[in-house]
Amino acid sequence: MACRICGVDEFSERITAREMMFGSREAFEYERCGVCGTLQIVDIPDDLERFYASEVDYSFNNFVPDPLWKNLLKRWAARTRFHSQNTKSPLSKNKPKR
Ligand SMILES: [Zn+2]
Repeated sequence: MACRICGVDEFSERITAREMMFGSREAFEYERCGVCGTLQIVDIPDDLERFYASEVDYSFNNFVPDPLWKNLLKRWAARTRFHSQNTKSPLSKNKPKR
């Protein structure tokens, strides 16, 4: 197999990982490219949606919307952070060089 990023057929290591999140313990082979270091799966499963569909269900079941006060607090915190970054900016103190 050739690297999907740089196209070189030169792999430095082979890793076998097992699927643990859904408990199927299916083994997947990965190879690390010896040139760019990208870890990539050897055979992409034909039925990828099998893994993603149940993940969506999983996160949806655990989704709890933030109460309104939490959203307001987040917005306030973001604004405050932005403000303090502005005042501490070294650029405002630097005098232009000639
Ligand atoms: Zn590569």
